[in-house]
Formats: sequence, structure tokens, C-alpha cells
Amino acid sequence: MNLKDYVKNVPDFPQKGIQFKDITPLIGNGKAFQHATKLFCAYAQKVGADVIVGPDARGFIFGTPVATQLGLGFVPVRKPGKLPRETLTETYSLEYGENALSLHKGDILPNQKVLIVDDLLATGGTIAATINLIEKSGAEVVGIAFLIELEALKGREKFKDYPIYSVLTY
Ligand code: AMP
Repeated sequence: MNLKDYVKNVPDFPQKGIQFKDITPLIGNGKAFQHATKLFCAYAQKVGADVIVGPDARGFIFGTPVATQLGLGFVPVRKPGKLPRETLTETYSLEYGENALSLHKGDILPNQKVLIVDDLLATGGTIAATINLIEKSGAEVVGIAFLIELEALKGREKFKDYPIYSVLTY
């Protein structure tokens, strides 16, 4: 099964010059979604993850089926203002302006082995902030898994010290 058949390229969305990779056809197809989940699960087992972390919001879509398949916990990293208890927060730069991500204190335990799962690696800003939150919790990032990696943006270079797995590369 070629999963690229289920990713639609949408030029100039959300702004001119961006080639947006739309993954909704993939998650809308049971066999394709299951195939992608199996690949993520195999990687999670290979790196010995004992918890899955997914960034808001597409990391939830790809991370939660991996967690349930393997009987692991899933921890969400969320946009600010969404988590009700005390949080750790990381601010990071976007092409224009800033963004922030939060994690509940205590949701990830010290020494846990974390696999981060997300939809797409572009510049890597989201994942850099996610790694900082996990490491501030005292846990170890044992791997980072993406459905899609946009190689031209060289996001991978930010994460030389971490094992990275991409199901699809463009
Ligand atoms: P980044 O922090 O630059 O690695 O990108 C963060 C998030 O933005 C990714 O997880 C995607 O959800 C989204 N994103 C960035 N570029 C694209 C793209 N070309 N197509 C679809 N989603 C994108």
C-alpha cells in the first residue's frame, strides 16, 4: 500500500507559497490509517517507548491509536489555556510571531521513555518545544516519529541527538 496515494497536496494553503499536505484522506481510509498506525507501533517498540506524547492537534490523531494498540499511556501537549492544572510552558518562534505549548506538570514521570508522534516535520519548532517540555519533566525522548517529513526544510538538523522516523518523505 502506497500511503502517498492518500496524502493530498494543496498549493498555496494557508498562504501563498505553502504546499500543504492534507492527511484527511489517509485518516479517512481505514486500511491506510491502520497501516500508518502499524508502522508507528513497530517503531515505538523498536525504541522501547513506554509513553506516547502527541502535540496539539494532529499529534493526537496519530499518537492515540499507537498508545491504545500498545497499551501505553498518551500525554497531550496542548496550546496554552487548554490544560486545567499547573503546567510547564514553552514559547517558540514561528515564521511570523510566536506560539506556545503546554504540558501538565506530573503527566510525564521522570525517567519515562517517550516517543513523540506527530503528523509532519516542517521547521521543527513544534517538536523542539515539545522536547523541552518532556525533558523539563525529567523524562527521556527515545524517538520522534512523523507521518510526513518535508526534507527541504531541514527540520531534522535540529534533532541530531534524537532518533527520527518518518513514514513518508517529500
Ligand atoms: P513545524 O513546527 O514547522 O515543524 O510545523 C508544525 C506543524 O505545522 C506540523 O506538525 C503540521 O501540522 C503543520 N504544518 C507545517 N507545514 C505544513 C505543510 N506544508 N502541510 C501540512 N501541515 C503543515
